[in-house]
Amino acid sequence: MQGNLNVQTENIFPVIKKFLYSDHEIFLRELISNAVDATQKLKALSSRGEFKGELGDLTIEVKIDKKKLIISDRGIGMTEEEIDKYINQIAFSGANDFLDKYKDVQENLIGHFGLGFYSAFMVADKVEIETKSWKDAPAMHWSCDGSPSFEMKEGKRKERGTDIILHIADDCKEFLEEQQILQLLKKYCRFMPVPIRFGEESQWVDSETEFEEVGEGENKTKRPKRVEKKVPRIVNDTDPAWKKAPSTLTDEDYKKFYHELYPMNFEDPLFQIHLNVDYPFNLTGILYFPKVRKTIDPNRNKIQLYCNQVFVTDSVEGVVPEYLMLLHGVLDSPDIPLNVSRSYLQSDSNVKKIAQHISKKVADKLEEMSKAKSEKQKAESEADKSQTFNSQLEEKWDDIKIFVEYGMLTEEKFCERAMKFALLKNTEGQYFKLDDYRDKIKALQTDKDKNVIYLYATDVDEQHAYIAKAKEKGYDVLLMDSVLNSHYINLLEQKIEKTRFVRVDADTVEKLIAHDDAIPEKLTKEEQDKLRPIIENEVDKARFTVQLESMESDDQPMVITQNEFMRRYKEMSQTSGGGMGFYGEMPDSYNLVVNINHPLISQVLNEQDADKQKQLVHQLTDLALLSNGLLKGEALTQFIKRSVEMI
Ligand code: ADP
Repeated sequence: MQGNLNVQTENIFPVIKKFLYSDHEIFLRELISNAVDATQKLKALSSRGEFKGELGDLTIEVKIDKKKLIISDRGIGMTEEEIDKYINQIAFSGANDFLDKYKDVQENLIGHFGLGFYSAFMVADKVEIETKSWKDAPAMHWSCDGSPSFEMKEGKRKERGTDIILHIADDCKEFLEEQQILQLLKKYCRFMPVPIRFGEESQWVDSETEFEEVGEGENKTKRPKRVEKKVPRIVNDTDPAWKKAPSTLTDEDYKKFYHELYPMNFEDPLFQIHLNVDYPFNLTGILYFPKVRKTIDPNRNKIQLYCNQVFVTDSVEGVVPEYLMLLHGVLDSPDIPLNVSRSYLQSDSNVKKIAQHISKKVADKLEEMSKAKSEKQKAESEADKSQTFNSQLEEKWDDIKIFVEYGMLTEEKFCERAMKFALLKNTEGQYFKLDDYRDKIKALQTDKDKNVIYLYATDVDEQHAYIAKAKEKGYDVLLMDSVLNSHYINLLEQKIEKTRFVRVDADTVEKLIAHDDAIPEKLTKEEQDKLRPIIENEVDKARFTVQLESMESDDQPMVITQNEFMRRYKEMSQTSGGGMGFYGEMPDSYNLVVNINHPLISQVLNEQDADKQKQLVHQLTDLALLSNGLLKGEALTQFIKRSVEMI
């Protein structure tokens, strides 16, 4: 039989070719998916007793034969009527509809729309089908050379199943290269549920006929020689971990699967979440939390999205909440519409629900970890039932806090839940839940306006002197060194009433937490007015503002501080890019706080020799700069020289 395909557009093939140019390779996924479907259908018929014959070996085979690429399955096959219905009419009109409907947005669709069987024409100038149905019907042969006419006649295939034979076009020769096809199979078909064979591979096995001698003297024995043997190469794992019941998997199994997914990543994940939902949408998958420190490469080890074990994409924007995009792993759902553009995806209600579900599961897991005793402690003291323990979350916190902080900043619901388990770490390495920490510091760190002041450092070494001062006062100092810090601190200030975060070097220790008890001033107003210009003359006024303050007489004579809000806004505008540019471009500015109660400051004021006075001021400012890590280069050299001379 000959006929014309049911098309409205005369030349659909050039159209298919052109529009899907950049994604030619998906034809293989489409054709193998069809082969898998045909095989699964046969298995279903068999288990229902409708198909009574032998299933036999159901392996799908991919073969390169000169200029042809052949995909063979042992599935249900097609009868003449079925070819007519599914290939000549429905499938093709489907492709046509698609092109009509999405004329304007085709660019967006590339890679997200399976054209099904007809995607074969993206790489082939002629396609043949050799098929024999499981039903008692003659084998059929169908061929089409890319024009809207096709030929269909009785075929020669003896066994049940289908061969799709692609005559690869001259400009698509790469699809005749073994390595190229292997790579595509690994990309798209790695976890398909029916074994797929492509060529052979070497395996080292014990020889049955050849032996070698090992050992010396008495210990000498014979053992079979290791020989290379060619075995069929199966490219896929038909039963990937995410499809199994979580209860049947150990931690080791999860790790093993992680390395199967990302063979180039040698680091183990921290922990994982196994997703398994079937109502109101269908979703399975495993999400792994990797170690994230300061550097993140979002392009490595991305989450992979599957649809019934068929790889679809590794751009999961919209499906996975943004703060979880850095997780690794797989998601598999037939309910994510794959044939639509990104913007549509984000407004799809199923997709929204899936994203919410993932977020909820992550919160559940973290909460559970915050209640569970750490692995280390469990191993140490099985019997110890005491209430104080380090949680699993504490154990992993440094590596995952960035997810939690980012999640809290971007997802209201997640934030609500995380307020209960998020941790703060102090400079002594202890962890606290937010509520517990407030209880701990409340007594000493409440200022005169009833604000609880959370002191923090961003670098234990650089801010050492300030941390020590605060601790002397009995204050606790947090370590807050994440990249999202300034944003996160702002969030906490909004979420926890009457709270302020202040970095330890934001002010002198007396003023970090303002109490009512002012220290009496030892210099009169006149003396202070005389002192100020003496000091101002010696410092860079663009960077430093001189501030005279009444501090304890045994405190430092001079201290450098940096205003909390100016600094934080500057940091925020640097990490959020744009919007607050003004702050980001501002130079760093500091306060040079002068302790008017210190005997050395009185000495400065009373010094009659102008040179000596200058030298003393210089020495004092340099000391303050030094303890802030701001004394560098030439200035540092000068300081050392001067100090030696003075000794
Ligand atoms: P879809 O797979 O989305 O239905 P296709 O264009 O890929 O669309 O295929 C159209 C139909 O052709 C399939 O639904 C199936 O009935 C039939 N078909 C395609 N490939 C095979 C095959 N290898 N074995 C049996 N039937 C097939």
